[in-house]
Amino acid sequence: MKKNHRVFYCFFVLCLSFILVMAGFCVSASAPPVIILDPGHGGEDGGAVGISGSVEKDLNLDLAKKMAELFSGAGYEVILSRSGDEDTDGRDGFYKRKDILARLALAEQYPNSVFISIHMNSSTSEKDKGFQVFYGLKNGRSSELAEAIYASVFKNMEVTRLREVKKAPETVYLMKNLTIPAVLIECGFISNRSDATLLNDPAYRENLAFVLYSGIVDFIEKRTDLSSEGEEEDILTGDQNILATSRSQASQDFVH
Ligand SMILES: [Zn+2]
Repeated sequence: MKKNHRVFYCFFVLCLSFILVMAGFCVSASAPPVIILDPGHGGEDGGAVGISGSVEKDLNLDLAKKMAELFSGAGYEVILSRSGDEDTDGRDGFYKRKDILARLALAEQYPNSVFISIHMNSSTSEKDKGFQVFYGLKNGRSSELAEAIYASVFKNMEVTRLREVKKAPETVYLMKNLTIPAVLIECGFISNRSDATLLNDPAYRENLAFVLYSGIVDFIEKRTDLSSEGEEEDILTGDQNILATSRSQASQDFVH
């Protein structure tokens, strides 16, 4: 009987170990994040108007849709904050504050997600040009997400100028308040002739969509649970290594 007990005990321990290992495996292989793509502006809010007449909201939406196709094709769940030429609060008339709050509320429904806001930049100086990523303030991983996108553009694309990754100004409400990893991508200055020519070319946007997608996937593959880690202090430390680009502060995008 004692021997039988011992055999049973060993069998029990083996089963328990197996269950614990499997449970650990399941936890570490957590679900991939939802990709929230946020084409800036929409509806009555056109955003910036380019030197050649292109309207920011249209370019933002087209690029976001191209990215959505790539993520969906790779099996990710994708949420677009808007899928047409409209604002996001579902009300008649346009209220910037309600539109921004609706985007925030949408994102908060998905704790395991990344938030990618797509914009085109603009400046009072036609000379200002280039691509730049700004990162959110509340989640320490936002800066890593921004760096991964920067690295992908650096490796895979020729842009007119690759500006340093930078912490978003506090005036950008979404970047200040989102608790998930969040970035705002300024794809180029449509107030600059060279950038506008590139960004108005569908083939360039197709290429850019793929390069941005690749950078975001690089980030995701290094990280699993994105829900709540990271502290603001991390960002402040990281930001000391980032050269300030005062020109970007002239961006009209950060007025609203
Ligand atoms: Zn914008």
